[in-house]
Amino acid sequence: MEYTDRLLRDTVITVDLGALAHNLRTIRALVGPDVAIMAVVKANAYGHGAAAVAPVFLENGVTYLAVATLTEALDLKAACPEAPIFILGQTPARLMDIVASEGFTQAVTGLEEAKALSEAACALGRRAKVHLKFDTGLVRLGMRDPAEALEIAKLPGLEIEGAFSHLALAGAESDRAQFEKFLAFTDGLTAAGVPLRYRHIADSVATVDVPAYRLNMVRPGSLCYGLHSWDSDAEVDVRQVLRFETKVSAVHTVEAGEGASYEHRWRAKRPSLIATLPFGYCDGYPRRLYEQGYVTIKGVRCPFAGLIGMDQCMVDATDVPDLAQGDPVVIYGLGDGDGMSLQEAADLCKTFKNDIIARLMARPPRVYVR
Ligand SMILES: *Cc1c(COP(=O)(O)O)cnc(C)c1O
Repeated sequence: MEYTDRLLRDTVITVDLGALAHNLRTIRALVGPDVAIMAVVKANAYGHGAAAVAPVFLENGVTYLAVATLTEALDLKAACPEAPIFILGQTPARLMDIVASEGFTQAVTGLEEAKALSEAACALGRRAKVHLKFDTGLVRLGMRDPAEALEIAKLPGLEIEGAFSHLALAGAESDRAQFEKFLAFTDGLTAAGVPLRYRHIADSVATVDVPAYRLNMVRPGSLCYGLHSWDSDAEVDVRQVLRFETKVSAVHTVEAGEGASYEHRWRAKRPSLIATLPFGYCDGYPRRLYEQGYVTIKGVRCPFAGLIGMDQCMVDATDVPDLAQGDPVVIYGLGDGDGMSLQEAADLCKTFKNDIIARLMARPPRVYVR
């Protein structure tokens, strides 16, 4: 049975599609009409739900939706068959027949996989679209030897549509060195008679901070979702798309000295009101935040009362006026009384915002608002 018309949990991720569309218009205005946008929707669109957000990207003029893996590409295609899909990561040579038959555009990081893809495409009587991946200093994936790219260019089953590289963001000087290396690679290819329709190296940070790095295609991820993801003092009007919310499932009164949750790591210092909340670390909330994290209820900051479980947690809601079962709770919002901001959560976890939202699991239902 499917109950698609019912909201099956009180713990939800709210996704503002209007804000997403706004951000895409902002990015378009920033880069101008001549720079193509490859929007990154890996990791379930950074937790926003790739299938549901894909149409908003397509309505707003992106050239590609980029995923990290073949599995993500297949899921996205099933949900959104018309989407032009780009696979950023390496697909093992043994799986290239799938890439060819599904018509994905594939990053190619070396000759062996290129041969496999070329053969698979030839067997289907097609040419597979690829972008050549160069390693210019991240030392992750890609070719370092332009001669290898020239070998790939000779393969009959490939259409070389572009070339790209990825910045290590190790500082302005190092980024510039990577950029110049990339230009040298691509200029070499063009001079050798391999035309490149797209060249791209800029993620969100570089897209905002260094206009020269935009070339004729950019690959923003976090910027699309309204995260402040740049280092300069540029003003870019993007808005956070995602909220994480729930409702109080139970209220308990405890005496001073009583413990709550596993191992009773929390003990009441005063007569307290404990609110039980139906979310836990299996929804993608960092378990380590039990010590310093908090939620807000009616604008009041409520710290966790002990360890966070897989599916539930408790908070100290003593200071919330008229606390009742069913009260709305903000887990991640904009901060300042509207839940924790993603930045605060990231700081407390010693990580950054992409990691906080991308780890949100598929389990909480997504509620899409315009
Ligand atoms: C994830 C990723 C991006 C997008 O990064 P953001 O920092 O979110 O903009 C761009 N390019 C590649 C190759 C990536 O893996």
